[in-house]
Amino acid sequence: MNTRLSEVDYPHGLAPYATVDAVSRGRRYPEPAPRYRGEFQRDRDRIIHAAAFRRLEYKTQVFVNHEGDLFRTRLTHSIEVAQIARSIARALRLNEDLTEAIALAHDLGHTPFGHAGQDALNECMQGYGGFEHNLQSLRVVDKLEEKYADFPGLNLSFETREGILKHCSLKNAAELGDIGARFLNKQQPGLEAQLTNLADEIAYNSHDVDDGLRAGLINIQQLQEIPLFNDQYEEVRQRYPDLSQRRVIHEVVRRLINCQVVDLVQTSSELLRQQAPPDLEAVRGQSQPLIAFSDGMRERNLELKRFLRTQLYRHYRVHRMSVKALRVIRELFAAFFDDPRLLPAETQLKVNDLRQRKGEAGQARAVADYIAGMTDRYAIKEHQRVYNPGELT
Ligand code: MG
Repeated sequence: MNTRLSEVDYPHGLAPYATVDAVSRGRRYPEPAPRYRGEFQRDRDRIIHAAAFRRLEYKTQVFVNHEGDLFRTRLTHSIEVAQIARSIARALRLNEDLTEAIALAHDLGHTPFGHAGQDALNECMQGYGGFEHNLQSLRVVDKLEEKYADFPGLNLSFETREGILKHCSLKNAAELGDIGARFLNKQQPGLEAQLTNLADEIAYNSHDVDDGLRAGLINIQQLQEIPLFNDQYEEVRQRYPDLSQRRVIHEVVRRLINCQVVDLVQTSSELLRQQAPPDLEAVRGQSQPLIAFSDGMRERNLELKRFLRTQLYRHYRVHRMSVKALRVIRELFAAFFDDPRLLPAETQLKVNDLRQRKGEAGQARAVADYIAGMTDRYAIKEHQRVYNPGELT
């Protein structure tokens, strides 16, 4: 975009490299501009009204929904990501509406049972193009939500879709056209997409500590080995020696989020000041992201991530649930793929349609779409209905 935009195009003092309606690459199916909302507000609103968004409430983040009422679900995770991302966006004078839209949509393509579910579905889809949850999020907003009279999907703006597609294999990128081009050209997405990606990390690193402690799968003593946690913990203990354990944990988690956000805002402000990209296209043309943690914070972050991977995500109780999830997904896929007549009538139509257009791979994709859309409890129930002769309905 080389025309200079007026102040009017950059409402509320947004930075010149922020994404605004006036520089958007638009929607796949052109629509008149909304009367009282911005384009990205409209995207956010469409996401909130999507069925896939409501289903996030009953999808696993780390703990399966029925394991407890207090753990994060995909929905509360997405809302926490949106909160963190919007704070960062505002501090950097970037577009909060776009940021919020990306954050709320970023996990729409997640299968039931979290990463275990996605690994299982990917395994089932070998030979049929595989399964990536990130690509599936894009598929949900582009194709699978069927609500609007004039277009398939939610017909979101290019920039929201660009933000949803965080990563992508080169093979898939080549098939995606304009939205996949940046992976092939080694370019960056807009800053709102970059920051939401890191807000996602800040959110799950922090809330998984909280949930892991609450579940009793990790403990404070172990976490004290991790400097990112321990610094905050020591400070809280010294300042509030009589505070109850539960409040100490919350106070530490809150500070964990804050110190990462502050580091990210400061480091990114400095990068933006140095590089001074004149506009969004200049941001896209950079070889490296301009939203980043300091080296020190990145290292501390990695330590926490490694800790969570070995101590929490691979804890035998989490693993035990993952193994069960794997079996449920595998067996559902096998049953539906071998005999699509087991599927609800509406889903059968989709299977037939995709099979006619794309052969066996199409049939597999339609089954994967159906399974990916399930909530944890629906998948468990459906598995019983398909495999358990005692289940009559
Ligand atoms: Mg996420």
